[in-house]
Amino acid sequence: MTDKTPKLRDVLDGIPTYKPGRPAAAEAGRTTYKLSSNENPYPPLPGVMEQTLAAAGNFNRYPDMACTELMAELSERFGVPLDHVATGTGSVGIAQSLVQSTAGEGDEVIYAWRSFEAYPIITRIAGAQPVQVPLTEGDVHDLDAMADAITDRTRLIFVCNPNNPTGTAVRRAELERFLDRVPSDVLIVLDEAYKEFVRDPEVPDGLDLYRQRPNVCVLRTFSKAYGLAGLRVGFAVAHPPVAAALRKTAVPFGVSQLAQDAAVASLRSEDELLGRVGSLVCERKRVLEGLAGQGWNIPDSQANFVWLRLGERTVDFAEACEKAGVIVRPFPGEGVRATIGETEANDLLLRVAEEFRSGR
Ligand SMILES: *Cc1c(COP(=O)(O)O)cnc(C)c1O
Repeated sequence: MTDKTPKLRDVLDGIPTYKPGRPAAAEAGRTTYKLSSNENPYPPLPGVMEQTLAAAGNFNRYPDMACTELMAELSERFGVPLDHVATGTGSVGIAQSLVQSTAGEGDEVIYAWRSFEAYPIITRIAGAQPVQVPLTEGDVHDLDAMADAITDRTRLIFVCNPNNPTGTAVRRAELERFLDRVPSDVLIVLDEAYKEFVRDPEVPDGLDLYRQRPNVCVLRTFSKAYGLAGLRVGFAVAHPPVAAALRKTAVPFGVSQLAQDAAVASLRSEDELLGRVGSLVCERKRVLEGLAGQGWNIPDSQANFVWLRLGERTVDFAEACEKAGVIVRPFPGEGVRATIGETEANDLLLRVAEEFRSGR
């Protein structure tokens, strides 16, 4: 035996650990709610469950590696050629493949900050350098500053629209102006994990932008609006060289048959699912108006969560929420992200917010 341990890459030292939203602890005598991970509060539709569970009898077999049925369904649903689609183990899995396909040692990946916490992790794992561009005062992507940050080492730029954790979205004109400034050999990834919750007509559909621009890739997921977070399935729409790179770098058999079947069944039940999204959007409006009425200055959210800029009081607020039975997601020193959940959960959040503001 020697006292040596396996040599790990130095880049791992600088990697922050992904912090999942905390689960709500079961407590005797009351319901607690998890508003910390932007999940959909509704369980899967009965039809989706039935069709999906049929796959259980074949768990001794590997899934369809090419995701044939899901790919065909996506191609048809979104009106894009089959060779422009790639699936993956959640859109985070695809985002990681995109970074690995474009950036390595010495290359740069630009994204806004604060934004989705997976970006710095997957950038560093690839050995690339993260370039974090602060959000504007209003917690929106500063696209001019992001364009100014481009160098000849830039390989990929993430635009999270709407942005996690602030809920803010960039609009068509400013996004197009930005895209015009990005060199054609730099990949722009429009992460649209919350696309189905967008109601501002000025916020573009990334698929319209991708059609005219070979360096734009759109990321979508079944984890949020479609309510399949537990199954790990997402997809990208990109032009053939990028989509082919994604298929090459994906973990073989990464998307389980259960996930593939559930995604297909969800696309086929889309009307019903998107009706639920409509209810959550109504709840979002109610929460945003409620908070504004209490005197909070909350940025408009186009996603299924709201952002409370609490600065130094962030942790105190999160603790007050927990006492009341709701788990939110604190970013210490910055703010709290609270998912729009069940009506009772949103009521509790509003009550805590009101008590907190009035110092009770
Ligand atoms: C939740 C989320 C995703 C989706 O992740 P999955 O891996 O598909 O579950 C992607 N991007 C952002 C910004 C998110 O908030």
